[in-house]
Amino acid sequence: MEMPEKCERVDLFAKRYPLIFAKADLPWGLECGVGWDALLASMFDKIEPVLAVAPKSKFRPLQIKEKFGALRFYYEAKGFDKESQAKISAAVDEAETASQRTCEVCGQPGKIRRTNWIRTVCDSCADRIAANDVD
Ligand SMILES: [Zn+2]
Repeated sequence: MEMPEKCERVDLFAKRYPLIFAKADLPWGLECGVGWDALLASMFDKIEPVLAVAPKSKFRPLQIKEKFGALRFYYEAKGFDKESQAKISAAVDEAETASQRTCEVCGQPGKIRRTNWIRTVCDSCADRIAANDVD
């Protein structure tokens, strides 16, 4: 069976962030465009060290997706102290906020557009998507 591209992206992140992805079960892979991979990496860069110093905690990514033009990272976090929990939440909030001004397709500065679709993209990606839109 051919591995979908999205699952390859999960594997790449899992190699870089073994603690975050140790218990990950992401059957749909990463449900967002590659333009947000840098945002995800900078979020994981902040979360991985928190997990490293909390060996009794449990962290599990549940879903990483685009919703209404913004990144959503759903996860389960158990057994963290307040400070660690706050660091994780802050990293996630930051990435979700940044996604609303980052093109999901190419990673360039973008903005949320609501036409017959809602996505955060840059001008040139918006033009290209509109041109390919058959609806
Ligand atoms: Zn773009």
